[in-house]
Amino acid sequence: MKNSVSITDSTFFNNATAAGIFNLSYLTLSNSGNSNSDIGYGKRGFVMQGGTGRNTTWPADGLPYIISGGYTVNYGHTLTVSPGAVVKFENNSAYIQVGGTLTAVGVSTYPIYFTSIKDDILNNTDATSTSPAAGDWKHITVSSGVVNLEYATIRYGGGDYYAANLINNSGTYHIASSTISNGYSYGIWHQSGTTNLTQSSLFGFGIEAYHNPSYATTTATNNYWGSLDGPYNPKYNPNGNQNSAVSDYVTFWPWLGQTHYLNSTNSVDGGKSMHWEYDAGSTQQFSTQLEYGIGTWNALGGVNIAPYVWWQNILDLTIYEVDDVNKAVAAYWGAYDKIEYNKYYMNDYSSSLKQMIVTHELGHALGLHHSYVGNIMIFTGTSQTSLGTQDIGDYTYCWIDDNCEGQN
Ligand SMILES: [Zn+2]
Repeated sequence: MKNSVSITDSTFFNNATAAGIFNLSYLTLSNSGNSNSDIGYGKRGFVMQGGTGRNTTWPADGLPYIISGGYTVNYGHTLTVSPGAVVKFENNSAYIQVGGTLTAVGVSTYPIYFTSIKDDILNNTDATSTSPAAGDWKHITVSSGVVNLEYATIRYGGGDYYAANLINNSGTYHIASSTISNGYSYGIWHQSGTTNLTQSSLFGFGIEAYHNPSYATTTATNNYWGSLDGPYNPKYNPNGNQNSAVSDYVTFWPWLGQTHYLNSTNSVDGGKSMHWEYDAGSTQQFSTQLEYGIGTWNALGGVNIAPYVWWQNILDLTIYEVDDVNKAVAAYWGAYDKIEYNKYYMNDYSSSLKQMIVTHELGHALGLHHSYVGNIMIFTGTSQTSLGTQDIGDYTYCWIDDNCEGQN
């Protein structure tokens, strides 16, 4: 191989600084089977300086990589960190800046680490007994480029202005099956660009696990936020985990381990009552089913669903009946606190399916999200007309245990 350095099956000792220092812009490092027994000042790893001069791979089978200042993955280049590789940041001047592509895709048995040099995972790199702490190093920042993280652990960063392990400043993050933890203030700071985060675990932050200061909503569904209660957000999940809080403009539901299936909003607009009326154009064709559905939910005793009274002038929910061949669904609950039942479909349905749909949409108005088979809030039509265990549990969490009031 041209322009390559190959270090294999070597032992490093009695070094004052490190096993090796590389400024590998146009070189490829082959690193396998090496060990290091330096004690004192010599760091047990290879210090990587500067940035990429072309596509570069950091193999795993040997000593860790040490970043001691800024390391840049330049535009047009890919840095591939191999499964099982360990990257350690030496101090709070250390960071990786990505304008090209950083691919750190591990596997479950060989994850990739980006961590503090004081973190003795897989190697006591600073050769002294140390404890890592949030803020030990700066961050990985993507600007115009792309960062792919899978089965990667990124921890103890955030030692600078944004105080986050990962920063997106108009680039792209694809993060899956990874662990982001112990950032000084934040785990992810999404300033702009695209951030996809899923099947990952985030915990241990001074302020927020995920901060989105922009007004463009990002998606972070199916992640574990350090607790079965999900991430704390004052409006959407006030009982969530405070050490894994999430800012507004982040769609975090559903989360992994979620025990309740709830929407972030409902039509219960003031106090625990939901006053409803028919739209003026309605033929009130489903009033029998509505009466039964309202009775079903009211029997649980949290919210009182009651007709609109003009002199009280509190209207929470309007029910529409349409007859529209062009609409794809038989019914929905949605914006402006409305339920719409479409006679075009529903007139052909069995009485039990009609009833199920009417009760189901009232459940959405009460803040319940789709759950699963055996419940009224299942995502598809069935002939079930009474509530299931999850329906009752979700309603109880919302309206008996008081976790949903004010989410309108
Ligand atoms: Zn539904």
